[in-house]
Amino acid sequence: MEFISKRGGDSDYSIIEENKKLKETVFSLKKELNSMKEPPLVVCDVVKMFKEKIIVRLSNGNSFFVNVSPNLIERLNVGDRVLAEQKSLTVVDTIGKSKQFGVENFVIMQKPDISWSEIGGLKNQIRELYEVIELPLKKPKLFKKMGIEPPKGVLLYGASGTGKTVLAKAIAASTNAAFIQIVGSELVQKFIGEGAKLVKDIFKLARENAPAIIFIDEIDSIASERVDIGTSGEREVQRTFMQLLNEIDGFNHLDNVKIIGATNRIDVLDQAIIRPGRLDRLVHIPLPEEKGRSEIFKVHTKNMNIKNIDFREVAALTNSFSGAEIKSVCTEAGYFAIREKRTYIDHKDFLVAINKVRKGDEIDEENPARMFG
Ligand code: ADP
Repeated sequence: MEFISKRGGDSDYSIIEENKKLKETVFSLKKELNSMKEPPLVVCDVVKMFKEKIIVRLSNGNSFFVNVSPNLIERLNVGDRVLAEQKSLTVVDTIGKSKQFGVENFVIMQKPDISWSEIGGLKNQIRELYEVIELPLKKPKLFKKMGIEPPKGVLLYGASGTGKTVLAKAIAASTNAAFIQIVGSELVQKFIGEGAKLVKDIFKLARENAPAIIFIDEIDSIASERVDIGTSGEREVQRTFMQLLNEIDGFNHLDNVKIIGATNRIDVLDQAIIRPGRLDRLVHIPLPEEKGRSEIFKVHTKNMNIKNIDFREVAALTNSFSGAEIKSVCTEAGYFAIREKRTYIDHKDFLVAINKVRKGDEIDEENPARMFG
């Protein structure tokens, strides 16, 4: 065995390595896909314990006498928050004492250190965010004196991977604000019955950590126009959305909390969220033009050991690529160079990488299932 692998030399080794990496990727994608198929769990409180069963109370006030997964019952106490399956309400996990069900566990709060120089293109959008978010946070007195009410928040809309999240992070960094990130779909899917409460707690958390920016990614999953709100899931989304509107209406234009919503589905958005006094400043984040693409290439190759790259050509060849795709091109180009055992990355690597990323795109669109094998 050892003899064969030695004879095969380095190229065999790199194929084995690549094979291993691809298998790992397939494995993790399958895992992700399976987790997406899992129905969400219901959050409830333990109100009474018996030998093998317990009584739980749901957030709507109803109580049920339910089963508990094996070996879990000895870890439970009255007053604990537990997770139950939707249909049978069998308790399958615990999240401990009720008061530990804090919002901090479900949002990402950080002080980002992204600087404006890490964003290619988007000059007009950056200027607009500066005026609407940064200036009022930094100089509220100026606005008071002038009698202008700055928007409470903005809505960034555009295709995915165009830089909406990095823009929001950069603005938090330049205002030294806490950055609280939530994903709309998670808010309503992960813990049924808790969406509205989480929204309330998120705004509380923001006020306590002000200046703060609340970034709501995929805001369309909470704030989309619904024709029919008959199902309990839809009612839950509606409740969460109403709470969000209440919270936005409840604070002042000059408070040092700002909201940035992001969506790539502006077409389905409920108009209530963009009414005056709410996220009434809409900023389109487009796919980058050729000049922007060249700048994004420069940003992502800044720390790479590159040789003789014609940035104009790579930008010209990446029409309709998003910033995220350009970033992948740079990483792929690096991999090509590594495979050829070079310590620098040249123009040719970029050309091959561009083709690869473009092809990946085509496969996605034609038949996304193929990605998961
Ligand atoms: P979105 O929130 O619009 O889906 P992100 O902000 O998450 O997109 O961007 C995804 C990745 O693509 C980020 O890691 C970022 O580095 C890169 N990216 C996107 N747009 C740009 C840009 N204009 N300049 C530099 N990098 C970008």
